[in-house]
Amino acid sequence: MSVITRQDFDQYMVPIYSPAAFIPVKGEGAKLWDQNGKEYIDFAGGIAVNGLGHAHPIAIEALKTQAEKLWHLGNGYTNEPVLKLAKLLVENTFADKVFFCNSGAEANEAALKLARKVGLLSGIEGKNEIVAFNNSFHGRTLFTVTAGGQPKYSKDFAPLPEGIGHIGFNDLEAAKACINEKTCAVIVEPIQGEGGVIPAQLEFLKGLRELCDQTGAVLIFDEVQTGLGRTGQLYAYMNSGVTPDILTTAKALGGGFPIGAMLTTDHFAQQFTVGDHGTTYGGNPLASAVAHAVFEFINTAEVLDGVQQRYDYFVKALNQLNDKYALFDSIRGAGLLIGCVLKAEFAGQAKEINTLAGQEGLLALIAGPNVVRFTPALIIPFEDIDEGLRRFDVALARFVDAQKGV
Ligand SMILES: *Cc1c(COP(=O)(O)O)cnc(C)c1O
Repeated sequence: MSVITRQDFDQYMVPIYSPAAFIPVKGEGAKLWDQNGKEYIDFAGGIAVNGLGHAHPIAIEALKTQAEKLWHLGNGYTNEPVLKLAKLLVENTFADKVFFCNSGAEANEAALKLARKVGLLSGIEGKNEIVAFNNSFHGRTLFTVTAGGQPKYSKDFAPLPEGIGHIGFNDLEAAKACINEKTCAVIVEPIQGEGGVIPAQLEFLKGLRELCDQTGAVLIFDEVQTGLGRTGQLYAYMNSGVTPDILTTAKALGGGFPIGAMLTTDHFAQQFTVGDHGTTYGGNPLASAVAHAVFEFINTAEVLDGVQQRYDYFVKALNQLNDKYALFDSIRGAGLLIGCVLKAEFAGQAKEINTLAGQEGLLALIAGPNVVRFTPALIIPFEDIDEGLRRFDVALARFVDAQKGV
């Protein structure tokens, strides 16, 4: 019998990731076990995907039930689960219409293409410019990686799509200076996730809304990471006083089953016509059935209030740890999207802390080189938070010792 090992990754996989040295084989709730039976507390949640944790009975039931009925049809036919899911999304958000796809990048790709079409139909010459923000992340297709504000991810793939400009995040003056009648879209994350867990200021989002209204640009909120209860609201826009024209959602939407969606109003949706866009698997019955179950489960006061309680609990405990170790400048974020920002003297070492945490039996994430990020299941039990933080405490102690050269 051949044994699967971490070396197989290096031997067989295109080397675009550098996964941990261990291989998880089973998960339940906010816990995972690796090939050796070692237990981990999961504060990573599959990068803000496993909102219900691992192997949640609701998701399993939805998947199994649908698996026995119908998996896939193709877009020549619609299906019941996708229509149920679309209705649920429309009834619970600003949106009137939904387009389904398989990932966050594809949802943003659809949003940006729709915005270009809207610009074209406006009849205004050259209304095709997209304004995006430094440090943002919107996915890895060529269009979305170019919209993203981290040149390290796009520079090797030139020539890049044209007409995309970047300005400072939370810099309303810069936005005023560059959003004009040639702008067809402004794309922004309510909290920059990959870029370091940086919340947008409310005044900034309001200002972008006004600028888009004045210039006829489409305001796109990329809620791929912040959606589905992650910030304690169903979607982060709901707490901002600002409603976007297009919202993209993915990650936690399927609770681990791949699905993404672009939500928009009738006004914008109708500017796409038959044949303008599409994708083979978008809204397939299996993904839609799971997403419906996940969405209904999360969209309750109990789960959403629980996210806020867990945020308070995390922040208090993390500040206590910081009193002990003085490693972090700040703890920031919202809900269960939490970033621990390293002090300047420890800059670039978030990954080291993460590796130590893994050794101590805690899965965490980083958000850029200077931020340790936590995005656990929205329903992570408090005793698992305690145990995870205890392991984090040990990892931080080891990190501090290593700094001293102990
Ligand atoms: C993860 C992420 C994406 C990309 O989603 P994929 O499913 O990896 O394509 C886009 N935008 C934001 C804000 C994200 O966090």
